[in-house]
Amino acid sequence: MPSSGSPTYKIIVILALISKCEYLSAHIRMFVISLSDQGFRGISVAEFFYRNRQMAGFGNPTQAVYSTVRELVENSLDACEDAQVLPKVDVTLTQTPNGSVTITVRDNGPGIPYEFVPEAFGRVLFGSKYDLRQKRGTFGLGVTMAVLYGQLTTNQPVSVVTRYGTAPARSFDIYIDIETNSPVVERTAPCPSHLVGTEVSLTIEGDLKRATPRVREYLRLTSVSTPHALIILSMNDLPRETFGGYSEHIPRPPVIVKPHPRSADVEYLRRLMADHESMSLRTFLVETFQKCGTRTATRFLQFLALSPTRKVSSLSRDEIVRFSAALRNYDGFDRPDDQCLSPIGKEPILDALSELYASSFFKYELRGPFEWQGHPSILEGALVIVNRQMDENPVLYRFANRVPLLYDARDDVLTQAVRKVNWTRYGVNNNTQVLLFVNLCSTRIPYKAAGKQSIAGVSVIESEALLLFKSLGRAINKVSSRAERTRRNRRKMREFLRQFKIIAKFAALLADEESPDITALIHSLFEVDDRD
Ligand code: ADP
Ligand code: MG
Repeated sequence: MPSSGSPTYKIIVILALISKCEYLSAHIRMFVISLSDQGFRGISVAEFFYRNRQMAGFGNPTQAVYSTVRELVENSLDACEDAQVLPKVDVTLTQTPNGSVTITVRDNGPGIPYEFVPEAFGRVLFGSKYDLRQKRGTFGLGVTMAVLYGQLTTNQPVSVVTRYGTAPARSFDIYIDIETNSPVVERTAPCPSHLVGTEVSLTIEGDLKRATPRVREYLRLTSVSTPHALIILSMNDLPRETFGGYSEHIPRPPVIVKPHPRSADVEYLRRLMADHESMSLRTFLVETFQKCGTRTATRFLQFLALSPTRKVSSLSRDEIVRFSAALRNYDGFDRPDDQCLSPIGKEPILDALSELYASSFFKYELRGPFEWQGHPSILEGALVIVNRQMDENPVLYRFANRVPLLYDARDDVLTQAVRKVNWTRYGVNNNTQVLLFVNLCSTRIPYKAAGKQSIAGVSVIESEALLLFKSLGRAINKVSSRAERTRRNRRKMREFLRQFKIIAKFAALLADEESPDITALIHSLFEVDDRD
């Protein structure tokens, strides 16, 4: 068994995680079956993604530009927030005459230890974010998919310049050996002129013109979910555009937590047990899991009819299966710890939205923490009413762990939940255009595919989303009935003014005087607006 910190171990963990994603495992099975009639052979993870790159969001040249920007920006934001640095990220996009696009993203983060740079950029499914807490990256897949795509379409390596610690910065040009899924460092050299952070540059086949609206929308929405980051976009010869930088407050970094017992499937449990073979079952439970003190562990083992002093190594295969099922179904464990989550929060999101939208109505709600299969989760939503009419009402903007999701909206659980709400009941009509911003925070986002664009239909997430939308909806009802009352009052007062003018006119006639202009008087007395 490899040690728990080693790259091999991390790759095994991530493969196990991916095998849970139904979509991926179906494709992996199909792929293996298609090989079997030509004789058996294995393929590397890099080769698998090389052949199925659409799964990771690199299906066409437009999406590829967007996905590359997204992966690089996400890595920069993750790194800066981890180091508690206010992120400043420069994104530069240049279309070359031969149809390729050079994408460069530079940050002011902590940099990458030089010994890990080749693996981080040259080995698919290698990363530093496998611990249990909220983060944008998940599989150690993002940037390497972009590197693979660049290599495949333009035959160019990825260029990385990074400054880590006090040593001078280093630059690297890296390829991926697809057959072995390992990095090939083509060139590396000191680069003392680079003073801080990481700069990653990739040249890929891409359609910058078509991708531009998506990239802008992605950065605009990132400024909603990460208002403390300042992102500067430079494209060809266009003037620079800035996004975000609305707040100086860096959110506290999510705390790494132990797994919750309900998240322990058979494979995960088997691996945890393998690392703690000599422990008694009770000590194993207390040491390994959160929300499982000595008393809870003893009660759980009683429930399973297992002795608390029995050794972990003595459990048979069948007993491990029974143990895992019991962990997932036992209702004596408290809800998972949410210290590992970092929601955007009311003030930051409303500050960002009021920078972006001229509106007098903003509302924020948070639901949770709740859990799905032992993964602590929070749903937060903000609602804005705007004056401009749009194609849909409400318009939904989806986020997962602060990352805007722009593709595959139709199949997303949040979209399904919005559709189930009868918005007219809450007063949504042509006069009230509603925008909804919803962020799911979780230690595990149940993405439908490795492209991380759409959240799967987990029932607890759907029901929490429904409750969130309904609660936001009730706020619209209040505001729209207030607006309706004001409109009715204004109508009454206008009628009153009309009648009063007639009375004044006839009174003047009777008195044989000139008709006075009473409009100013009425306005000052009753604050009546006589416009139609
Ligand atoms: P993931 O983000 O899912 O972990 P990636 O393939 O995108 O996977 O990145 C691999 C690893 O490279 C990251 O886990 C991180 O450790 C490192 N990395 C990438 N970009 C940066 C950056 N700008 N600053 C610091 N570390 C980075
Ligand atoms: Mg990443």
